[in-house]
Amino acid sequence: MLDDLINRMREYALENNVPIMTEGGINYLMKYIKKNKIKRILEVGTAIGYSAIMMCSVDSDIVVTTIERDEKRYLEALKNIKKAKMEDRINLIYKDALEVNLDEEFDLIFIDAAKAQNRNFFEMFEKNLAKDGTIITDNMNFHGLVYKDLESIESRNLRQLVRKVKEYREFLENNKNFTTEFYDIGDGIAVSKKS
Ligand code: SAH
Ligand code: MG
Repeated sequence: MLDDLINRMREYALENNVPIMTEGGINYLMKYIKKNKIKRILEVGTAIGYSAIMMCSVDSDIVVTTIERDEKRYLEALKNIKKAKMEDRINLIYKDALEVNLDEEFDLIFIDAAKAQNRNFFEMFEKNLAKDGTIITDNMNFHGLVYKDLESIESRNLRQLVRKVKEYREFLENNKNFTTEFYDIGDGIAVSKKS
C-alpha cells in the first residue's frame, strides 16, 4: 500500500540524512496541486522520489518529470517509483538539471535541489512554464540562517550559501514577470506566479 511505502521512505530519509520535504511543506504542495488542478509537474531534485510520489498521488491524471544527479538517490527513487506503480506517470531523469533541456510545458515547476543554483534553475526552466503556471522553490529560509547577519556566520562556505539564498529572494522580489509570495512553511517556500 502507498501509505506503507511512504512511511518506509520517511524512515529511510531520516536514517540516511536525505533532506525530503517536511510534513508541512509537502501538505502545502499537495493542497496547492489539488486546488489549482495542476496536471503537469517538473521537479528539480528528486532525492529518493518522496515528493514526486506524493505530488503524483494527488490525482490519477497527474504526470511528473523529476531530475536527480546523485546515483545512489536516483537508484533508490527508481525502486520507490516502481513500488508505487507510478513508473508510467513519473519520468525520472538521472542527470545534472543544469544539463537538461526540456521542450514540454509544465503547470508547476518545483525547485528543491542545490540552493546556490536556484536562480539558474529558475532561469533555465521558466521557458517551460505554462501561461498560468507557478514556480515553487523550497528552502527559502535555510533553517533560519537567512534572517541572520552575514557577518555573524563564521564559516566562509556557509556564509556564501546564505548570501546566495538571500540574493535569490531579492531576485524573486524584483522579478517583474512574476509575483512571489513567501511562506514560513517547512523550511520556507516561495510561490511565484507569472504576472
Ligand atoms: N524533493 C525531494 C528532496 C530533494 S533533496 C523530496 O522532498 O522528496 C535535493 C536533491 O537535489 C538531492 O538529492 C541532490 O542530489 C539533488 N540535486 C542537487 N543539485 C542538483 C542538480 N544540479 N541536478 C539534479 N539534482 C540535484
Ligand atoms: Mg528542500
